[in-house]
Amino acid sequence: MTIRQLPDTLINQIAAGEVVERPASVVKELVENALDAGARRIDIDLEEGGVRLIRIRDDGAGIAADELPLAVSRHATSKIASLDDLEGVATLGFRGEALPSIASVSRFALMSRRIDSEHGAALDVDGGRVGAVAPKPHPQGTTVEVRDLFFNVPARRKFLKAERTELSHIEEWLRQLALARPDVELRVSHNGKPSRRWKGEGSALMETGLSEARLHEALGEEFARNALRVDHEGAGLRLHGWIGQPAYNRASADQQYLYVNGRAVRDRSIAHAVKQAYADVLFHGRQPAYVLFLELDPRRVDVNVHPAKHEVRFRDARLIHDFVYRTLQGALAETRAGAVPGLAA
Ligand code: ADP
Ligand code: MG
Repeated sequence: MTIRQLPDTLINQIAAGEVVERPASVVKELVENALDAGARRIDIDLEEGGVRLIRIRDDGAGIAADELPLAVSRHATSKIASLDDLEGVATLGFRGEALPSIASVSRFALMSRRIDSEHGAALDVDGGRVGAVAPKPHPQGTTVEVRDLFFNVPARRKFLKAERTELSHIEEWLRQLALARPDVELRVSHNGKPSRRWKGEGSALMETGLSEARLHEALGEEFARNALRVDHEGAGLRLHGWIGQPAYNRASADQQYLYVNGRAVRDRSIAHAVKQAYADVLFHGRQPAYVLFLELDPRRVDVNVHPAKHEVRFRDARLIHDFVYRTLQGALAETRAGAVPGLAA
């Protein structure tokens, strides 16, 4: 066979394979865009577990009409401009891949108005075919509509699960996000009915930027009652959040939330450090619950590891492992000294 350059739509569909696994990944990318745009309130309307429709509206900065086609072009982003920016990236997005990928595997519409423009505009993309920008009234901010996900990729569509399952993936991801961003209001509806509202609580925030009310709401009364507050700084690192007292433990790792500079990630080394810290106080096979935020200079962590950005790579992984271990071990040792009910001394 001869070598040929692939058409753009196909390139986007290939990229979509990595970025868009299921409706929850679409919700993730779109909500992250809304947050990067400074949204204070985000409305999320879903139909049929997001397979039929995902509509996300935000009150953020908006996109200029003449930039709408760029927003759905590959490798076009307003968030970084150089390698230096990439190395210190502070936004959730930076790859300029999500919108073109999503738009190549759905019936997609983008509508927006910037605060400094009088009129809104819209752009449709149908399975990767980009239409023309048309005027359309829109409040300040952006709406993205994604209909019929994978309608043109039957092999992918086949892997979608029942409505309930897809919805629960979306809800779990939103819970993860809600824990990190109590300042933002999130309203969710499913099949036309309001299904969840995370109230934005600017003023009720603790000085740490964390919210106990959100903690209750996201993880339940029991976790909140059994949680220890952690906040420790050293070596340019800060670890804060809540960890469950040993008496509150789980059969699975279902209540383990880790954020690095505000981004929810999975990290083996940190998970290991947490496990070690609990080693002496948990029965074998039981899992601790935690919501932990690690903050450090963005230059010490590489977020450009995988297109879906679930993982990061630390410049000094060993140091961070030990910092997490020592912080949690110290916090747990204090409760032991204080004889927590239900715990062997
Ligand atoms: P990335 O987030 O990596 O930059 P995306 O494909 O997700 O790439 O988005 C492309 C660009 O479109 C963004 O850089 C941003 O300028 C713009 N954009 C996307 N969504 C929004 C939004 N909700 N509000 C404002 N601008 C947006
Ligand atoms: Mg993005």
